[in-house]
This record gives sequence, structure tokens and C-alpha cells, in this order.
Amino acid sequence: MNMITNHLPTAELQALDSAHHMHPFTAGAELARKGARIITRAKGVTLTDSDGNQILDAMAGLWCVNIGYGWDSIAEVAARQMRELPYYNTFFQTSHVPVIALSQKLAELAPGDLNHVFYASGGSDANDTNVRLVRHYWAAKGKPTKKTIISRMNAYHGSTMAGASLGGMTGMHAQGGLPIPDIVHIGQPDWYSEGGEMSPEEFGLMRARELEAKIAELGEDNVAAFIAEPIQGAGGVIIPPESYWPEIQKICDAHEILLIADEVICGFGRTGKMFGSLTYDIRPHIMTVAKGLSSGYAPIGASIVCDEVANTVGEAGDFNHGYTYSGHPVSCAVALENLRILEEKKMVENVASVTGPYLKERWEQLADHPLVGEAKIKGFMASLAMTPNKAARAPFEAPKGTVGLIARGHCFGGNLIMRHVGDRMIIAPPLILSRSDVDVLIER
Ligand code: PLP
Repeated sequence: MNMITNHLPTAELQALDSAHHMHPFTAGAELARKGARIITRAKGVTLTDSDGNQILDAMAGLWCVNIGYGWDSIAEVAARQMRELPYYNTFFQTSHVPVIALSQKLAELAPGDLNHVFYASGGSDANDTNVRLVRHYWAAKGKPTKKTIISRMNAYHGSTMAGASLGGMTGMHAQGGLPIPDIVHIGQPDWYSEGGEMSPEEFGLMRARELEAKIAELGEDNVAAFIAEPIQGAGGVIIPPESYWPEIQKICDAHEILLIADEVICGFGRTGKMFGSLTYDIRPHIMTVAKGLSSGYAPIGASIVCDEVANTVGEAGDFNHGYTYSGHPVSCAVALENLRILEEKKMVENVASVTGPYLKERWEQLADHPLVGEAKIKGFMASLAMTPNKAARAPFEAPKGTVGLIARGHCFGGNLIMRHVGDRMIIAPPLILSRSDVDVLIER
């Protein structure tokens, strides 16, 4: 058999791909007919495909390549770590320098007393950790009935059984026997689609108060935690009304439940501060992180846990949970170098006060387009809700997602990667985006 390299013709690579590779979140038979776009290399914010096209990656891969592509120092750090200690576990009373250094760094960056890090291989399994951790915590406190976790419709918390159950994606729940027990969902703060005649602020308060009603319905003694993304990402970049998070925080403070902020997308600068929790003044007991933690250069996720929860669980004996790759030395070394670059190159500042304001100005002008009902942006996360009738915020007659798919195909053909969620178009570009990149993005 021929060696499979970048030099094979695109059609041949596509045929081999569809013969043997099952793609996530993809209709395999349809892709086999069309052929996947084969990405061969990347630098900065630009991808190159197997036909030599230069594509602006306005999704930073899967919302993860925060520092952009092509940093040599990360390759060097990874190679050095692979030579020195490619693997060792952190299970049975052993540790290593990269995991110690990264944990210290995350404790320094994370707000409040989030000082303890439990590692996973990505965001989904970090959320699995959270499910077990919060229930184990309450059991250790002598409150074993506090088990139910409240989440939100249209949230995304991963693809594992627990992650997808925490998520509120009905399309995922319909496949494979989800959700698992003791997870319930309340409404999302999506004013554009669901707010009707209410003002955004009224609607934000109403949706937050659903949490209080759900706690009352279940009984506080049965509720372990509330989990939410500061800004829902995969749900379509749902930027909540300003009234939403202060009310949620007030409700969490008034009741004995833990607050988990899923920062897998919002973390590491995307909202213009290091964490979405800082942008919205949220005080979580646990933060889920992944993606921007390594900018996708190596797989890694983590739960960053407050003193009270970590110390209680620590005193309660073995926590019977962990992954072979928890605290993988190469991933930890890569994550540390990624965070060093993020800080040294002032990328969070780029989002907050350099390129961010210009992107916001240009993005919000798109609201003047006849098919755009709403153009919203926070930091480097943005959405365009498309509609045939702006005043009514009406959906298209075609089944939901048809127009989004066409628009996404148009962008793809024009060498711009945007994503569509239903009939919303979304972006989450690398944090190194410059003014001239913004011009190209808006033009395309
Ligand atoms: N949580 C959020 C908010 C996410 O956006 C994602 C992935 O997109 C996950 C969890 C799951 O992370 P992973 O795909 O690394 O398992």
C-alpha cells in the first residue's frame, strides 16, 4: 500500500478517509458522497487545505486554538518532555514536575480559592469528574441525598454519558439512552429565540428564577449542584442578558448547592478576561477547563476545585476516580508553555482592548443586513441570528438549520470557517486575530 502523505491527491485522501474514519457529529454516508475537506497545515489564524487554499479559521479549530497555530516553542517543549518523561501516572502516590507546575499555575490564575486541580483528557471527562465529585462531596458531608444536578436546555457539557446528560441537546439525548438519572434541566437565557415580548433584562431574571423554582420543586436536600457555561458556546453563542448571572449567583448563595462554571470554551481569554466567571462576576466552587488550556496542542482537561470541596473530599479517603492520562506530563508541559505564550503576548488584552473593540464594531454593523435579526458579541465569541423577518425575529419556513447550512457552505467555499447552529452563524477565532484579519473575516 502507498504511504499516506499530504502529497496524495485530494480525492484519494477523501476516499481513504471515508472508507476507514468515522467522523464525530457527522452523517458518514453523506460525507462519503461529498468528501471531507482535508487540512494539511496551519499557521497563525490560517489553515491550508490539500488543494492549497488558504482558509481563515474563525472557529479556532473547535473553539480551542486560542494562541493560534504554529508556535515552535510548544513543539520544542513537547519533544523535550517526551524524551525526558513521556508518561507517568499520578494515581498511586506519585507525581511529576509538569503536573506540579501546571497545578500551581492554574491555582494562581483561577479566581477565589479555586486552588486544587483534578485532571482529565478533555472537557467531557472533566465534567464526568464533576458529577462524581459533587455527589461524593455531599456524601462526605453526611448529606448523601444531595445528588441531583441542575443544568440547562441547549447547554453543551460534552459527549460522554454524563457530559451529554448534563448537556441539554435533545438531539444527543435521543441517541444512546440519555440522560442518566438525577440530572434535570431548566430553560436557557436565549432572549432572541425565546424572550417574546419581554425585555432582555426581564427575560434574564425570569430564566434565572427558574433555578430557584427547580430547587424548591426538588427540595434543597436533594440538589447537589448547578452547572452552566458563562456563555453557552455550542448552543449557538447564547450571550445572557446582564441580569442573568447576578440573579443566578444570588440564588446559589441563598441555597446550599455547588456552582460549577463550565469554562471549557470561555476559559483562557475568550470573553476578554482570563475566565468567563471573571467577566460575569461568578463565584464558582468548581470550574471545568479544557480547550484553551493547551490551545489544542495536546489533549487535556481539568476540574479546578475550591478549598472546601477539595479538602472535604481529601479527608474522606480514596476518591475512586481517575484517568490513565490524568496529568499527562506532555500535555501538562504543553499547557504550561501555552499559558506562558498567552500571557507574554498579552492575548487576553488583545481581546479586551486591542482587536476586540474593532471586531465588535464591525460585527455589530452586520445587524443592518436584511437577513440578520441579531448580531451579538462578547470578547471573541459572536453570533448572527438569521431571519426572514427582523421585526418578528421569525424563523425561516425551511426546516431549522437549512439556511444555516447553506450559509456555512457559502463561507466554507469562500475560505472562511464559521459554524452554524440551526440558523445562527457563530465565530470564536484565535485570540491573536488582528485588525486586518477582522477586515478579511467581515469581507468574506
Ligand atoms: N464543555 C463545554 C462548554 C464544551 O464546549 C465542550 C466541547 O465543546 C465540552 C465541555 C467537552 O469537551 P471535550 O470535547 O474536550 O470533551
